[in-house]
Amino acid sequence: LKLNAANLSELEHATVPTYDRASIKHGIVHVGVGGFHRAHLACYVDSLLEQFKLKDWAICGVGLQPFDAEMKNALGPQDNLYTVIERSAPGSKARVIGSITDYLFAPDNAEAVIAKMAHEDTHIVSMTITESGYFYNENTHELMTDHPDMAADLAGAHPPRTFFGFVYAALARRYEAGLKPFTVLSCDNMQKNGHITRDMLLAFAKHRDPDVAAWLAQNGAFPNSMVDRITPRTVEEDVVNLREEFGVEDAWPVVTEPFSQWVVEDKFCDGRPAFEKVGVQVVKDVKNVEEFELMKLRLLNASHSAMGYAGYLSGFQYIHETIGHPVFGKFIKNMMNEEVKPLLPKIPGVDVDEYIKTLIGRFSNPTLKDEITRICLGGSGKLPQFIMPSIAEQIVAGGPLRRLTLATAAWFRYLRGIDEQGRDFQLSFDPRNEELQKIARDEGNPMKLLSIGDLFGDDLRGDERFVKELTESYNALERDGAMKTVERIA
Ligand code: NAD
Repeated sequence: LKLNAANLSELEHATVPTYDRASIKHGIVHVGVGGFHRAHLACYVDSLLEQFKLKDWAICGVGLQPFDAEMKNALGPQDNLYTVIERSAPGSKARVIGSITDYLFAPDNAEAVIAKMAHEDTHIVSMTITESGYFYNENTHELMTDHPDMAADLAGAHPPRTFFGFVYAALARRYEAGLKPFTVLSCDNMQKNGHITRDMLLAFAKHRDPDVAAWLAQNGAFPNSMVDRITPRTVEEDVVNLREEFGVEDAWPVVTEPFSQWVVEDKFCDGRPAFEKVGVQVVKDVKNVEEFELMKLRLLNASHSAMGYAGYLSGFQYIHETIGHPVFGKFIKNMMNEEVKPLLPKIPGVDVDEYIKTLIGRFSNPTLKDEITRICLGGSGKLPQFIMPSIAEQIVAGGPLRRLTLATAAWFRYLRGIDEQGRDFQLSFDPRNEELQKIARDEGNPMKLLSIGDLFGDDLRGDERFVKELTESYNALERDGAMKTVERIA
């Protein structure tokens, strides 16, 4: 049966929303309706709408990128409904999510997006726009003002090109209208995602209008949050399975795991729904969020990156296969336990050994089929956040860093886009691929990549032990291949 509002009550094998979707106002505008948003925030909001019949908190989805046309075309004919398929070894569950009740596509109508954000019913603008959507220079901690899209928006381009361009345009209208600013809520995987959002947006606003910037600094809110739910890319097989197993015809379902976690700082300037009633950890102290973020990014995301590039070079297709291989299993466990765990602060009530065990179990879920090529996306936004900070801290502590360094060397080797049989392969998307691949190919040694100032700080480049380890690992990867090198260092 085709998924749409009229057919909802006839779907027998999936859980469906029973609340009156049409009568709920849009309290949240979410930019970047990809797999993760649809498996995470939209599910928490769906639970709230279902259990508490809230009337002000539906989500209006927004796509800013031309390629979001595909999402618009998938969701539109389905009345913005879609299915979340939760997969684990005991079996799958299908749940239709109803919390997104409209979808605006900026390339069609930028004004509609700005007007929706500026509307007084909108209390939160949330986003999952990937690390590169923030135009954040890791090294200087400043806004990349010279990026062409950012430079255009700073000069007042209409329609805007970047997330900050849209959000600023909407906030400036609210300022003029005497309304409160909305909360800007980042759900991207970044340490201190709220602080980065605040700093980049205020820097942007200062360029455009210091009065708006001052009003926003005074009255705005940018909560930090730690988000976690492994959400692979949907493949055609998932669409077919959903139809055959659950009788739902959905153009673009989402596949995810049973686990879900969201720790968010309780800092909202224009109200929020009671997220804590549906399992969200809403915490008063920003320090708590930061500790959870740190643990998650440095263990889960770092392990993903470590498995991704070395795993790709070793010929693996999925994460569960990689962690299930004895060599990689040992490598990842030792990296987490010996090189990362000692650096993490103790969080009251959290047993980090249990956390690591749970992670290994989640990575091993054979039903998720999380592709290595997805894990390899956007390395330039990931490694400097997930791996490099642990290396930098181990340099200071004089502690072990060989495995973290090997993960970095494997990324550098991967960036050449030439496999171990000498064949070219297509790198997973990264906005900096062209620049990085050119350097990786021309030089054939890791130092030139390491000297890219806005990705890597002087603390790494200047450390003799790290540079020696990196060079040795890189050469070993070239000479002996990834599997043998990982085996030796594991
Ligand atoms: P996806 O490819 O399904 O969706 C990405 C979305 O980001 C798209 O809607 C796209 O339009 C938007 N986007 C990308 N670049 C943008 C830009 N420059 N400006 C505005 N929008 C932009 O990916 P996903 O799996 O949904 O992941 C998105 C983000 O969610 C990740 O980068 C990560 O920060 C976070 N996240 C993902 C997972 C996961 O397991 N997939 C887990 C935790 C956190």
